[in-house]
Amino acid sequence: MQILTMGNDLLKQKAVRIDKIDSKIRELAGQMLEALAAEKGIGLAAVQLGIMKRIFVTRVQNDEERIFINPSILETSVKTTKYEEGCLSIPGIYGQVVRSELVTVQAWNEKGRPFTIEAEGLLARVIQHEYDHLEGILFLDRMPDDKRIKLAEKYKTGAGRDTN
Ligand code: ZN
Repeated sequence: MQILTMGNDLLKQKAVRIDKIDSKIRELAGQMLEALAAEKGIGLAAVQLGIMKRIFVTRVQNDEERIFINPSILETSVKTTKYEEGCLSIPGIYGQVVRSELVTVQAWNEKGRPFTIEAEGLLARVIQHEYDHLEGILFLDRMPDDKRIKLAEKYKTGAGRDTN
């Protein structure tokens, strides 16, 4: 599976709700987790594979692999943290992003069972980053204009894009 990179218009579009959690969705979730492990990433949204469905997976160190289908962010803490983020869709580019420290998210798993988790630390950050993908938002969009413009310029000139 090929991961779309910034510049592809699909990354700016909103993903659509999944009507039915069936074997096709389970297969997709499995493929996403495989792709994520292969890329040594910590989060991946289907949108990044050009599949415009509301599903993302996470694989954060010291945490189980997680699948989020049709997620809703129920609550975010007022308290924020700043941390360096990267994205498989923006290879070679990293930047400091401010996000809520805690997040409560409700979603369905691949078996069609609803769950709610309260996440903190890196998992909370990854959930917010991946949820943004479902809304067509990239981490650069969360940065101050001057920094975003600089990093977008660096990306355009090809830094880090040795795989393309
Ligand atoms: Zn990303």
